[in-house]
Amino acid sequence: MKNTVAKTQIKELIESSSVALSPNEIKKIVKKVCSKVTVYRILDRLVDEEFIHKVMTPEGGVKYAATSKYCENYKPNHVHFSCKKCNRITCLKHIEATCKLHKAYEVEEVYCTIVGVCPRCKK
Ligand SMILES: [Zn+2]
Ligand SMILES: [Zn+2]
Repeated sequence: MKNTVAKTQIKELIESSSVALSPNEIKKIVKKVCSKVTVYRILDRLVDEEFIHKVMTPEGGVKYAATSKYCENYKPNHVHFSCKKCNRITCLKHIEATCKLHKAYEVEEVYCTIVGVCPRCKK
């Protein structure tokens, strides 16, 4: 019961965020509702259910962002942009990360994070 509440809360939190969130940031917000282990378990489940997806940070960590499956031109394997100045990671939902591999390779997931300065910080 408690987990259902936490799951909904985490899902809504990620969906309403314009940037990818780290498990720590998520944990801080829902800490009254559930433990760290539960947060990780819920995140895994939301990834499996395709509500959210993983984003790799340049430091080798993982963040989570909403998957807008019904968004027009949404590319499941899209590029992410990580800003050096504000550390925010945004989904570039319409830009596909593509690379041609030999057909002997079976691609399952693509992680592409571009590092630079975002439009907000460039101003
Ligand atoms: Zn920035
Ligand atoms: Zn994304």
